[in-house]
This record gives sequence, structure tokens and C-alpha cells, in this order.
Amino acid sequence: MTSRITRLAVASVATAVATLGVTVANPGPASAAMTICYNTSQAPSYASIANQAASIWNNATTNLTLSANCGSNLRIYQITGGGSYAIRTSLGNGRVYIDTQQAQQYSPLRIMTHEIGHILGLPDNYNGSCAILMSGGSAGTSCTNPYPSSAEASRVSNLFAGTRSATERATDSTGSQVFRDSWPAVPATVG
Ligand SMILES: [Zn+2]
Repeated sequence: MTSRITRLAVASVATAVATLGVTVANPGPASAAMTICYNTSQAPSYASIANQAASIWNNATTNLTLSANCGSNLRIYQITGGGSYAIRTSLGNGRVYIDTQQAQQYSPLRIMTHEIGHILGLPDNYNGSCAILMSGGSAGTSCTNPYPSSAEASRVSNLFAGTRSATERATDSTGSQVFRDSWPAVPATVG
């Protein structure tokens, strides 16, 4: 746990440094981690939650870096009612919608990391396990785990192991998918 907190702290510093150098969006050499720029201008209540979720994904994976407000590969919105969901337009690109009502019932950080997980290529896995991030709302309101399992994290790392930047991928609709009903509009009864 201590090492995880340390890594999160290091990632926060890295994120802050990246934010200062605002022109990070330019794709680097093929060996560099791909930058996925996320934009929280339409989700002002969840900007810090998005930053925490980005740090979690950055720490858990290789080959990609989520960076704040350097561009708009990923746009994050806050909505009222209807449930949180994600629209992946291509790997590393899309939109995440956070239902403010739902985020009062479930952990908003778990919702955010889950929905970003869809943008990073993961499907839902409603098996009710709190250890699985992509189990979403099926793990119930008491589950606040915001961390991907090692299997989920390595899956994302593998998906981003190519040489194309997120911006280059934006013109490729392969992998386009809408992920609705990740989080039911009312708390689920988990048996
Ligand atoms: Zn989902």
C-alpha cells in the first residue's frame, strides 16, 4: 500500500510537470509512451477525480500516458441522471459521461477509472467482483476499489504496444463502441 501511495505521489508530480509543458500533444518517437490528452472543461466537478484516475492508469500501465488539458483525445462530461457511460470512438479516443447522481451513490473515482478503462480498450465484465474494475456497478455501492486488476492493466498495456499515437488512431474507427449501462441508474442489488 505504501509503495502504491508513493507511486501515486510520483505520478502526480509527473502530471503536474506535464501540465506545465502544455505542448506535449505532439506525438513523440515510436518508443515513447503514447499521450492521451484528456479534457475536463465540461466536467468541472470531476476534474480532480479525473486527475486521480489518470494517475492510477498511468501507474498501472506501460505504453500510454494520460495527460490533462493538452488536447482532447478524451473529453469528460458531467451529466445528471441516466447513468454514467463511455463512447469509445477509437482506441484512446472518445467521451466519458459521469452521472452526478450516480456518483453520489457509487465511488466517483471507481466510476471514472472504469469509464476511462473503456476508452483504453476494456469491455465490461459484470461478475460482481470488487477486485475487477470493469465489473462496474455490479460490485455494489460499497465497492470503492478504483484500481484495475493486474490482468486488466496488462491488457491495456498490450493494446497500446503499437507505434501509433492516440491522435493518429483518432482517424481509425476500429474499436469504436458505446458502453452504456455500466452503472445502473439505481443501486444494484448484488446477490
Ligand atoms: Zn462499463
